[in-house]
Amino acid sequence: MADIIKLLPDHVANQIAAGEVVQRPASVVKELLENAIDAGATNIKLIVKDGGKALIQVVDNGIGMSETDARLSFERHATSKISCAEDLFNLNTKGFRGEALASIAAIAHVDVQTKPENAELGSFLKIEGSKITAQDVAATPKGTSIAVKNLFFNIPARRNFLKSNQVELRHITDEFQRVALVHFDVAFQFYNNGSELFNLPKENFRQRIVHVFGAKMNERLVPVEEETEVVKVSGFICKPEFARKSRGEQFFFANGRFIKSPYLHHAIGAAFEGLIKSEMQPGYFLFLNVDPKAIDINIHPTKTEVKFDDENTLYAILRSTIKHSLGQFNVVPSLDFEHDNNLLTPYSYQGKEAVVPKVTVDARFNPFESKESSTVRTSSFKKKSIEGWENLYTDLDDKDNSFSSVQFESQIEVPDIFEGQEEDIETNQIAFQLRRKFIVTTIKSGMLVINQNRAHQRVLYEKFLANNEVKQGVSQQLLFPLTLEFTGPEIQQLKQFHEHLSVLGFIMNFGKKQKVTVSGIPTIMTETSIGTVFAELLINNESEVTDEEVLSSEVLIAKILCRTLALKSGQPLDTTSQIALVNDLFGCEESKLDPFNRIIYTTIETDLIEKKFI
Ligand code: ADP
Ligand code: MG
Repeated sequence: MADIIKLLPDHVANQIAAGEVVQRPASVVKELLENAIDAGATNIKLIVKDGGKALIQVVDNGIGMSETDARLSFERHATSKISCAEDLFNLNTKGFRGEALASIAAIAHVDVQTKPENAELGSFLKIEGSKITAQDVAATPKGTSIAVKNLFFNIPARRNFLKSNQVELRHITDEFQRVALVHFDVAFQFYNNGSELFNLPKENFRQRIVHVFGAKMNERLVPVEEETEVVKVSGFICKPEFARKSRGEQFFFANGRFIKSPYLHHAIGAAFEGLIKSEMQPGYFLFLNVDPKAIDINIHPTKTEVKFDDENTLYAILRSTIKHSLGQFNVVPSLDFEHDNNLLTPYSYQGKEAVVPKVTVDARFNPFESKESSTVRTSSFKKKSIEGWENLYTDLDDKDNSFSSVQFESQIEVPDIFEGQEEDIETNQIAFQLRRKFIVTTIKSGMLVINQNRAHQRVLYEKFLANNEVKQGVSQQLLFPLTLEFTGPEIQQLKQFHEHLSVLGFIMNFGKKQKVTVSGIPTIMTETSIGTVFAELLINNESEVTDEEVLSSEVLIAKILCRTLALKSGQPLDTTSQIALVNDLFGCEESKLDPFNRIIYTTIETDLIEKKFI
């Protein structure tokens, strides 16, 4: 048999390797930024077009490359960072594999301009699919600029697999933030399609966090500092009351490298135990510095997973350090998870105009008259006959199923256990709250258990739709327009769904310096909830959580709005409010499902209860 094994040509080998290194535009961003850091740059500019599909360019003022080095840097396993196996255990650089540039050049069009400090002229190189197609001298400042165009131009399957520009941009922003957070002593600029997303000066770590995540971050940070023989821990954790449901602001940097570690993440969760609800995630920005010999960063090609020699000890140290910081900064006692001014208004008053109290005078009243003649009025205060929601619920055609029969039934069936649950005099309906989450009330066939949060979402949603049908974008003008400050990417996102927001009744003006002035809001909202609503809309659009497309329609935004504004589980309600909510719910066109199609209530038949007593 003839020999059949051949060595793969370089460009094929490079393409295969590229599959590992470059998954999407964000991977290129990471590699180029890290190379710039390794080159000792103090100023790094990232320029991106169309989610990185058209262009990713990184310009740095680092050490630059000689002409030969520039050519060599695109060969596989070409690196200036290690020269022998021992170096692997003493790494001070981000890169060491010498694979990135070779991989990128195998699947894109790359332009390089570079010049070392004391060279008179720099070099220019053009590489397409691993081949150098042009080379020249170039007048260029000290440093390196690498522009990567048309990523995956020769692998259509990979190119088609990419997500929308917005989603790819979010991944890029993630990578950018990870690098920018650790290297706070380096200035960064980030432009997307010509507009500036970030402009970060050289600063300290706290300032960098605030610059990247917005001014709101400043009050949330609690410093962490601990040095032991095994590890030096430093950075910040977020106060427990700012924990969030979605993962987002969680950053571990091991020896200056962003890492993911479910195990160490758990250690932080353990330190926060009892301070935040189990489904909430604490925010943290932590540096872990260990002896380079005690850490193996080589186990994963994209290098976010690492292996520590002594993970158990790290876990214990981390947990007690965080606990200590939480205690020291006295953040433990001031907890109030449920607090939201908007929710302090009883449900039955929410969204209603305040009535100016009037003074009425009973002209017939005479204190010197005998008692009988003055007691005229009570009987004229007839009970208002309110619509029975029971009718709506059970059978719409059954006109005889009048409200009085419900009254009768509920009066009969109220046993002593309902004592303390005051009976609503006006309607005679009974309702009580179970675990501050469900409203339990009676119906003819038994018991109705309603999820208060979902019910309220539905009620708000229908009110909202009704308002919007009458007049598109009906809004209430704010007496004092509110100016909110956002980060660059947040502003971009808000601009993206600005049109939807105005259809829904928001009146917003984008000002200078990432500020937005809100002068009108939908009628179902109150002024105090504006901050929460915007935060929620932006969180929903955040990266890391999923690859889902960004908010794309008014309907979705409206649903999220209602979810944000709705009464939460855990909110105590008085009986009047409970009954008002139940009535509102059964006044809805759809009362069974909330805006996200989850069931709102369930019934427990009396028959079923009877059976339990056999
Ligand atoms: P690695 O970073 O693992 O060494 P790369 O393929 O990313 O591998 O880069 C190869 C080599 O090219 C680097 O070792 C470095 O010498 C050089 N290089 C890459 N980017 C730059 C840059 N921005 N400035 C200076 N030198 C660079
Ligand atoms: Mg590199």
